[in-house]
Amino acid sequence: MAVLLNVLQAACDAWLGCGLPAPADAVRAAAWSPDAPGTWCAACGSARCGGACGAPVHLGVERVVRLGAHDGALRGWVLAIKHRRWEAMAEHLGGALGRQLAACGAWPPAGQGAVVVPVPMPPMRRWARGIDHAAMLAREVARANGLRVAQPLRQRHAGSQVEAGGRAARLAHAGRFTWRERTRAARAVQGRTVVLVDDVRTTGATLAAAAALLRAGGAGSVVAAVVSVRE
Ligand SMILES: [Zn+2]
Repeated sequence: MAVLLNVLQAACDAWLGCGLPAPADAVRAAAWSPDAPGTWCAACGSARCGGACGAPVHLGVERVVRLGAHDGALRGWVLAIKHRRWEAMAEHLGGALGRQLAACGAWPPAGQGAVVVPVPMPPMRRWARGIDHAAMLAREVARANGLRVAQPLRQRHAGSQVEAGGRAARLAHAGRFTWRERTRAARAVQGRTVVLVDDVRTTGATLAAAAALLRAGGAGSVVAAVVSVRE
């Protein structure tokens, strides 16, 4: 019986992340807390650029809100959400990201409603992983701020997981998303501030491609909210 239970536990750990600790315990054990607002460049999200990056030109977002750098415990949690389906941690960090958005003064923009849009995932990858991490994060960001979620974007194809730097890579990603024309989601972002949610900002190519399409589709300003930023 004990052997059977061990086998079941191992399978559970491998497939559902059951062996993972409660997120609050993990956060406490790592003595982790979100970066204080104002400690990173609002234009690109990096804590190292010193505000001289010119990122608005490339990212096309009004500002970047983040929880921290993509290293240490935070990096491990981001990866475990995706690869071990750690839904509880996605909820925990999504809530923290929602509160960070408010703490940064990114919400509410004066006199205008906002809509939360997750960066979409290719359907095959979503099926293979069994979790849409950006959608889970977006739901919690929305919940923390009393906003609603809409998904006017679709991933055209799986593309490359690795985002190389540079202009060529950004252009290669420009055609990555398509606009869901004449849908309720497309109408929902018209003239609105969009809070674009993803787990990691690597080069910013993904955010830039999504933001460009959102603006082309009629969104007002776009604010990016990411859990972590690769420095
Ligand atoms: Zn910057």
